[in-house]
Amino acid sequence: MEPAAVITNNQHNNNGKNDFDIISSFEEVSKNVGSVQTLILSQILELNYGVEYLQKWLGDLNIQEMDACALETLFTSLVPLASHVDLEPFIQRIADGETGPILTQQPITTLSLSSGTTEGRQKYVPFTRHSAQTTLQIYRLAAAYRSRVYPIREGGRILEFIYGSKQNKTEGGLIAGTATTHYFSSEEFKIKQEMTKSFTCSPEEVISEFITSTFAYSIVQAFSTFEELWKDICNDIKEGTLSRRIKLLNMRKAVLNIISPNPCLASKIEAACHELQSLNWFGLIPKLWPNAKYVYSIMTGSMQPYLKKLRQYANGVPLVSADYGSTESWIGVNLDPTLPPENVTFAVIPTFSYFEFIPLYSPKQHCSSAIDDFMEDDPIPLSQVKVGQEYEIVLTTFTGLYRYKLGDVVEVAGFHNGTPKLNFICRRKLILTVNIDKNTEKDLQLVVERGSQILSKAQAELVDFTSHADLANQPGHYVIYWEIKGETGDKVLEECCREMDASFVDHGYVVSRRTNSIGPLELCIVERGTFKKILDYFIANGSALSQFKTPRCTNNQVILRILNLCTIRRFHSTAYYTMRLTKQNN
Ligand code: AMP
Repeated sequence: MEPAAVITNNQHNNNGKNDFDIISSFEEVSKNVGSVQTLILSQILELNYGVEYLQKWLGDLNIQEMDACALETLFTSLVPLASHVDLEPFIQRIADGETGPILTQQPITTLSLSSGTTEGRQKYVPFTRHSAQTTLQIYRLAAAYRSRVYPIREGGRILEFIYGSKQNKTEGGLIAGTATTHYFSSEEFKIKQEMTKSFTCSPEEVISEFITSTFAYSIVQAFSTFEELWKDICNDIKEGTLSRRIKLLNMRKAVLNIISPNPCLASKIEAACHELQSLNWFGLIPKLWPNAKYVYSIMTGSMQPYLKKLRQYANGVPLVSADYGSTESWIGVNLDPTLPPENVTFAVIPTFSYFEFIPLYSPKQHCSSAIDDFMEDDPIPLSQVKVGQEYEIVLTTFTGLYRYKLGDVVEVAGFHNGTPKLNFICRRKLILTVNIDKNTEKDLQLVVERGSQILSKAQAELVDFTSHADLANQPGHYVIYWEIKGETGDKVLEECCREMDASFVDHGYVVSRRTNSIGPLELCIVERGTFKKILDYFIANGSALSQFKTPRCTNNQVILRILNLCTIRRFHSTAYYTMRLTKQNN
């Protein structure tokens, strides 16, 4: 994944020719997606001809002699759809040091950690030079579209919140870390700064210890930390020192090398912070970075709940939603940076991977099995997708993944030339289910949004949330955990709880609540800092802040223990209550 938490200065760009070239070549390939995709697949297969995984399905077919169209048909009929568990044994052998052609002809020397299709557990996918190159390409393409509306002056600076995990070694001696971590230590990251003529503020030593924040969550996290630590920061600026919180020696050295006492700036920032504090930090970004032109980060999907807070900090500075991809492959670019994050779509880049789409239909009304969240049709190629239809994305990549189900649900919103523009809907996995009810992350998000509207009327705000389907007690029921900021009376929270329970529109849930085969929704208010503890738990277990996404539903016993120990108030929904009473009276 790519660095994306970026604030860019209000400057001009003389990079016009580069931008024109990169946009023209994208325009060209997006006109002929069918033939481009056929060609990409044949390139992937030629590159990895004879690798063990492909041989298993294609045998000794001499694909080099075959026509690209025939190869595409053969490939999709002989190679089965796979999920990460199917590929795991092959990837494990690579991690253990086997160097033969297992998934790719080129030996894999680096593995990336992805949150992809499996949840809560480390998952490796191969990372190659191609991965870093496509990152550079999509970054340049997105930057070219952005600079049409928000031009950047040559030499402009980016405030990037860069966090990361350490690169480790696997048993077999391969480098392992998050894709962002690999990217920041790659040549391509340096090239990107040159090409887009905008440079990060931090010295390399800082970046290579703590690598990028891709998702909006980390911008909010950085500014809420600033709310608490601004006095320390002002003191450091005043004295030219560095707080003792920063412990890594080479990072201290690098930063101390470039700072010197600046009492004048410190008192200016101090005054601004005093004012901001009285405004509940509304407008922090334009106040402290008056030249900031926009805030750039992934703000769609599970990042949407952080938009409200981000908008408060930005107070009118445009929020530009960053592109769509995964550790497995980059997928689509945001061609219209002026759109609000709620309306952003991603145009698929047909040269990055071979994409297939599994049509998904909601069986909610007709299907009683809670395991099967959607009904599926056969996968179709990129060139055949239809507007308005939902799909799961399937990837065949240059890095050795073949017909790999990514686990993301997208909807085709329209087309750019011949390439589809996708709406990110949600992760495919059902997250809340007790019996016949089925609710996805998106369903939960909408419900929480309804509840938190009541909260904001009471001058409080939702900091973060998660949920759990409690099956240990009968009848099973949903528990939603909220961390909130501000004082709120019980009446308001009771109302929030009732509203959320009543807002789940899933037929299975509504029926089960009416018949009490699912109990009243429980709202647990956790003490401030609880979600930080959850983040710390994930980071301690190898996740990187840059790719962290708060799990919106959890069965993880450690997380549940943290949540339950930190619960300070509990409410049970009264929705459906009157309905049952009326029934009893009759
Ligand atoms: P990871 O591989 O850990 O970086 O996570 C990749 C996943 O993050 C994707 O499969 C999506 O579910 C999600 N994601 C990435 N980019 C976006 C985006 N622009 N909008 C919404 N979700 C995204």
